[in-house]
Amino acid sequence: MTVQTFVPSISRATEIASSQPDLARTDVPVKRLYIETQGCQMNEYDSSRMADLLGDSHGYVLTSDPGEADVLLMNTCSIREKAQEKVFSELGRWRKFKEANPNVIIGVGGCVASQEGEVIQKRASYVDMVFGPQTLHRLPQLLDQHQENKAAPKSQKISLIDISFPDIEKFDFLPEPKVEGYKAFVSIMEGCSKYCSFCVVPYTRGEEVSRPLDDVLAEIVSLTEQGVREVTLLGQNVNGYRGETFDGDICNFAQLLRLVSEIPGIGRIRYTTSHPLEFSDDLIAAYADLPQLVSHLHLPVQSGSNAVLAAMKRNHTIDVYIDKIARLRQVRPDMHLSSDFIIGFPGEGDTEFAETLQFIKDLDFDHSYSFIYSKRPGTPASELPDDTPEDVKKVRLSQVKDVIKRSSIDKTNAMLGQTVRVLIEKPSDRHHDMLIGSADNTRLVQFVGDSRWIGRFAEIKITQIRSMNLVEGELLNLEALSS
Ligand code: SAM
Repeated sequence: MTVQTFVPSISRATEIASSQPDLARTDVPVKRLYIETQGCQMNEYDSSRMADLLGDSHGYVLTSDPGEADVLLMNTCSIREKAQEKVFSELGRWRKFKEANPNVIIGVGGCVASQEGEVIQKRASYVDMVFGPQTLHRLPQLLDQHQENKAAPKSQKISLIDISFPDIEKFDFLPEPKVEGYKAFVSIMEGCSKYCSFCVVPYTRGEEVSRPLDDVLAEIVSLTEQGVREVTLLGQNVNGYRGETFDGDICNFAQLLRLVSEIPGIGRIRYTTSHPLEFSDDLIAAYADLPQLVSHLHLPVQSGSNAVLAAMKRNHTIDVYIDKIARLRQVRPDMHLSSDFIIGFPGEGDTEFAETLQFIKDLDFDHSYSFIYSKRPGTPASELPDDTPEDVKKVRLSQVKDVIKRSSIDKTNAMLGQTVRVLIEKPSDRHHDMLIGSADNTRLVQFVGDSRWIGRFAEIKITQIRSMNLVEGELLNLEALSS
C-alpha cells in the first residue's frame, strides 16, 4: 500500500480541524489552575491538554504560582523511584495551601496515580482526586463530582479515583489544542506493549494503542493554523504507530511521516521516543525522501552488552542496532544520534559495562538520557539479584556521561563554518538586535535579525561557538513568506 492511498486524509483532516466545536463556557468566573508536570514529554503534552480542557469546561486559567491556585494538579512520573518519591514530598508542600483555604482542590494524575491509586489518598488524605494518563479527559466530571460530594452525606459520596484504561477514548473528549509559539507536541499513540523487564510503562499507561490517522492529521492541521512550524510526534513507542484510517486500513509510522510532511506549514518533524525493533526499512527510506524529518534521532538502546539486553528483554542485539544506524547514516551522513542508557542493571559486571562504553564510543552519540537502574515494583527485573555496589554504578554513570558530553562538544565545535537550517523562535534576551532559533541538531543559534522574521526558517552560517548548546552565525537566506 502506498502513502497515496491515504492522501485524502489530509483534506479530511483540514475539514475536521475547521469544524471543531467551540466548547468554551462564558458563564463562569475565572479560576486559577496550577499544574506541576514531572517526567517525559508525554506528560508535558498531557498537562497542556488538561489546561485546554479545564479552560474550556470550567474557565480555569493557568497560573505559575501554586499559592494562588484554586485547583492544583500534579502530573506524575513513576519511571524511576526517585521521581515517585518526589510526589509525596511535593504534596506535603501543597497541604499548606489547603490548610489556608479548604476550598482548594488537589488532584494527582499520571503514572504514579495509575500505579498507586487509592494509596495516594491513604498517604495524603487531603488529595481530592486521583486520575490516570488515560482518564485525564474526565477531569471536568471529577471536579463537578467533587462539588457534589461536598454536599452529600458520607454514605453517598462517590470515589474520585479513576485510573482505568478506557480504550484511547481520551482524545475524543479533548478540545482543540491551543498553542503559543512555533513548536508543538502531538501524541500519536499511548502505552507500550514491549514489556522490557525493567519498565513500568505497560502497567501504568497500558498496552499500545494508536490514535486514528485522521485525528492525528486534524490536530496537526489545527496547530499549523495557529502558526506551528515544527511538530514532535509523541509516544512511548512512537515508531510502533499503527493508526486506523478512515476506511479501515492501517497506516504505519513511516507512512504517517510522509503525510505529515505534506501538511502546508510543517517545516520540521521530530519524534520521540522510539524503539530499535520498530525502526523499519520504510522509516529509513523516509529519511531519504523527507527534508522536514530532522537529522537528529533519539533511539533508546539501554545497554551496549548483548547479555544485558537479553536480561532486559529488549529482543534485539547490539548488531541489530548498529546495522540500522549504519543504514540510516548512508542516507543521512549528518545524522545526530541520541539514546537512553540504563547503568547498573542486574548482571552488568565490569565486562558488560566495558562493552557499553565501547559501544557508545563507536556509535558516536551526541546526547543521552542515562540513569542508574531503578528497581520498579511489579516488573520482572525487580526479582533479579543485583550485587553491584551503588558507588560503582555512580562511577560508571559518570563515565558514560563524560564520553557522551565530549562527543557532544566536538559536534558543536564542528558546526563552525557550516550552514544550518534554523527555526527562528524569539528575540535574544541578552542582545537586543539578535534573534534565537534552533537547528535540526537542537543547538540554539543566535544571529542579528529582525523580529518580524520570527516563525520562519532561515539558513545561518555559523561563525562562533558560544557554548556546548549555543552557537552564533550570520543570515544567508530567509524563507519567503507563504502567500
Ligand atoms: N521507547 C523506549 C525504549 O525503547 O525503551 C521506551 C522509553 S521509556 C518509557 C523511557 C526511558 O526510561 C527508557 O528508555 C529507560 O532508559 C528509562 N527507564 C525505564 N525504566 C527504568 C528503570 N527501571 N530504571 C532506570 N531507567 C528506566
